[in-house]
Amino acid sequence: MTTPEDEARRRDAADPGHRDLFHIPPAQGGRYAETAYLAGNSLGLQPRATRAELVEELDAWATLGVEGHLEAGRPWLPYHEFLTQPAARLVGALPTETVVMNSLTVNLHLLMVSFYRPAGDRIRIVIEDSAFPSDSYAVRSQARFHGLDPDTTVVRLRPRPGADTLHTEDVLDYLDREGDRVALVLLGGVNYLTGELMDIPTITRAGHAVGALVGWDLAHAAGNVPLALHDWDVDFAAWCSYKYLNSGPGALAGAFIHERHLADPAIQRFEGWWSTDPATRFEMTPHSRPLPTADAWQISNPPILAMGPVRTSLEIFDKVGMAALRERSCRLTGYLAGLLDEITPNRPLRVVTPADPDRRGCQLSLRIADPGNRAASGQGSAAELSRRLRHEYGVVADAREPDVVRLAPVPLYSTYHDCWRAVDALAQLVAEDAR
Ligand SMILES: *Cc1c(COP(=O)(O)O)cnc(C)c1O
Repeated sequence: MTTPEDEARRRDAADPGHRDLFHIPPAQGGRYAETAYLAGNSLGLQPRATRAELVEELDAWATLGVEGHLEAGRPWLPYHEFLTQPAARLVGALPTETVVMNSLTVNLHLLMVSFYRPAGDRIRIVIEDSAFPSDSYAVRSQARFHGLDPDTTVVRLRPRPGADTLHTEDVLDYLDREGDRVALVLLGGVNYLTGELMDIPTITRAGHAVGALVGWDLAHAAGNVPLALHDWDVDFAAWCSYKYLNSGPGALAGAFIHERHLADPAIQRFEGWWSTDPATRFEMTPHSRPLPTADAWQISNPPILAMGPVRTSLEIFDKVGMAALRERSCRLTGYLAGLLDEITPNRPLRVVTPADPDRRGCQLSLRIADPGNRAASGQGSAAELSRRLRHEYGVVADAREPDVVRLAPVPLYSTYHDCWRAVDALAQLVAEDAR
């Protein structure tokens, strides 16, 4: 008789990913050697090639010193340009629209300097109520920077009563009603908490129709779902590369600025010596002469040691291709969703991520009913549940207190067996809880 575990193994044999390209952390509990790592939405795993890439730059620095700017195997002066094409391919952008620099929230601020220009009655910034805290703080501080009251300037869109996630129609309805007061719509492409994939082209079009600008935070979308930022006419976007892009803790971020804004002299920007045309950078003149590309949004000379891991990671995405990754992702997450459906009825756990594969990436979010009561009675909150998953079963999921546990099978390295282990462990913990 084949067991569900055998079935998971059979699927892995038939539909392998690229696990051998990554270091899989050893398990800290349970009966398997490796963790079932389902937290790549929080920090992606280390590609095996990353160490050599870092050592190569350290060696260049050790042997060349300052001459490495021109003479390193990959010269440091133009180093960021080596990342531009693969990053552009990943998000469906032109290379001129794309730059890898800074961190995500820093990029959001720099892009809001250009694209949040409140004037007259048009001052509002629309975000989702389940926005990542950093995004909430960023937009509120931008409002204050412009002398505005963040409580009335920032609009937080909530799901309709009874719904777990924001519907595209909820955003469109708001824009219909209040659009002439909206300066900027800034939403997560894939919501970090619920795992919902927003309809980026439809919302972008609706924002433009009412005269607003539309930017996207793609922290949970880049490397997770196919994107076509140029064709979707997105004004700007930013994403980090330590989640699905596996470039290491605190890794550099990306930024996208649509072509139509690149040469617009009305657009404001904070500049530094890396904003200017590289051909004249070392003429040390008092005035910058930026080229009409996203590179003009750079300020400082970039951290080469931090760029190597991004380059290595983007090479993997180029090799495998986002379309193939998305196909495996839909199979893997569909399988996980099916297993969860078997254990969640009549249980205190509920999947809040949309069931439609077109409305989600790889992550499924589980909500625990009534976590306050359960924590009070010594039973699991989200943090307690994920702690037990890790220490008793070797399953790494991540918790967002008070009540959400996120499971993200990452198509590059996660397996069907990882999914089976997670659900098997959840089923045991929940059954124990019910006793
Ligand atoms: C992960 C994440 C961030 C993190 O911001 P950093 O500037 O990289 O620290 C911000 N926004 C969203 C939506 C995220 O998911």
